[in-house]
Amino acid sequence: MVRGKEKSGTYKRVMRRTPGGKSVLRFLRRNPAKAQCGKCAADLAGVPRKRPRELSRLARTQRRPQRMFGGVLCTKCSRREIITKSRSQ
Ligand SMILES: [Zn+2]
Repeated sequence: MVRGKEKSGTYKRVMRRTPGGKSVLRFLRRNPAKAQCGKCAADLAGVPRKRPRELSRLARTQRRPQRMFGGVLCTKCSRREIITKSRSQ
């Protein structure tokens, strides 16, 4: 008998092989939506679609791009931001 939450579409159904060789149905949480740019809401590249707990297991370099505003702004917005900041000083 499946639980009520497993009947909804919230959980992804995946067939997994157990150590004993049986094939069982597992219910996994779906990945969250793609990370978005803070200015233009474009999808960010280089940011993994993982749950916070799984993100915390990754190395910091694997969580977001290693550049200014990496993981916050898209490349276009970050380039524009860097230029405006350098001009204002
Ligand atoms: Zn943007």
